[in-house]
Amino acid sequence: MRHLLLSTLLILSPAAVAADHADGAEFAIAIHGGAGTITRANLSAEQEAAYEAKLTEAINAGYAVLESGGTSMDAVVAAVTIMEESPLFNAGRGAVYTFDGEHELDASIMDGATREAGAVAGVKTVKSPITLARAVMENSVHVMLSGEGAEEFSRLQGLEQVENSYFNTPARYQQLEAARAKLGEQPDKQAYLNLDQRYKYGTVGAVARDKAGNLAAATSTGGMTAKRWGRVGDSPIIGAGTWADNESCAVSATGHGEYFIRYQVAADICNRMKYQDLDVYTAGDTVIHDVLLPAGGTGGVIIVDKDGRVHLPFNTEGMYRASRQANQTIEVAIYKD
Ligand code: ASP
Repeated sequence: MRHLLLSTLLILSPAAVAADHADGAEFAIAIHGGAGTITRANLSAEQEAAYEAKLTEAINAGYAVLESGGTSMDAVVAAVTIMEESPLFNAGRGAVYTFDGEHELDASIMDGATREAGAVAGVKTVKSPITLARAVMENSVHVMLSGEGAEEFSRLQGLEQVENSYFNTPARYQQLEAARAKLGEQPDKQAYLNLDQRYKYGTVGAVARDKAGNLAAATSTGGMTAKRWGRVGDSPIIGAGTWADNESCAVSATGHGEYFIRYQVAADICNRMKYQDLDVYTAGDTVIHDVLLPAGGTGGVIIVDKDGRVHLPFNTEGMYRASRQANQTIEVAIYKD
């Protein structure tokens, strides 16, 4: 199975991916499963294969929607839902722990054709936060719901609820213990503590362009390990962690959320394309490498532009990612090189 799978995958460096996608495509999809200290040294062959298999399953699900003429909105939700159900990623099932040993999940979604958006923050019993974010967009007059109100809306919508313990996993609990030990040294300065990136990242996201030329973006996360006081990161914030505009691009981000909020990363990339007429590679690289990194912000983004070009820039050692353009092979990659 592993042999079969790997023989159908092309593991490419970001540069190769960028070069490959200089031409646009009628439809395209890209996904991420988080960025951070992801190196060959700290991932076993089994873990690597598990991530590759799940990324492949998710991108295939989204691609199938697009290929059959479905919408970019349906495609990004299909891909993100699969990753939410996997314990491998810090979203849904595999969400990280808060300082108090619970899970608080955030998600957002945006429709590039209409600029409609939906987001939820700090939900504890919603099995699929991305499905709830979509329901907020489609079935409420609001863009963002949080906490108990969001839970109530979820119940009214008939969405699946679970116990908070559904999100418990031993690996994430170990990360909490390690992070708590480190935070004990300086508990009131969490956002600025230089925690090991392993404690923070693993968000999932998807961006797509469909045959009709409509863009969509979706992001779902458990946030940052050991977060406190109802902390909300960039993932549910439209413009920071998620953005889609048919006139420029669709972006989903992963990384140190506080920086992505302050630099409005997702919207900044698309607006550079729109107002400065930059191509997707220049706009994405400028924000991730020349703006965010010097400021101290680590992470990455996945981008599909209005013509179906794909770019996946990140400034960390790795980012779980995959992309597929119309009639092209799947590309799955984890490391920087
Ligand atoms: N951006 C997320 C947050 O800050 C974390 C991540 O991408 O893993 O909540």
